[in-house]
Amino acid sequence: MGSIENIIERVGRNICLYQDHIISVCEFSEEDLEYFPISYLEKYVSSIELQQIWNKLSEKHKKSLILKLNLPCFKHCNNTEGTTQFDGPPPPIKLCSACKINK
Ligand SMILES: [Zn+2]
Repeated sequence: MGSIENIIERVGRNICLYQDHIISVCEFSEEDLEYFPISYLEKYVSSIELQQIWNKLSEKHKKSLILKLNLPCFKHCNNTEGTTQFDGPPPPIKLCSACKINK
């Protein structure tokens, strides 16, 4: 496939592998981020970075359940309401054991 999404994923994968995240998705504008495939954001962007760019993402991205589950879980981790159940950086929702139990 030669689509722009496919190319971005291939280029991004190489940048991640060899440059150790020298370019952060946070540096891209709203317009740029529209071109990022969901599969790329899922695989190569940390949940904290995803949280940081979330408001800049398109509706297409925000509707993606895959991406929603990759956001950090502030419901159970490091929240400000004193109901934190875990210390340390919040895991993605898909890996949060408390989220799994409450499903
Ligand atoms: Zn959770």
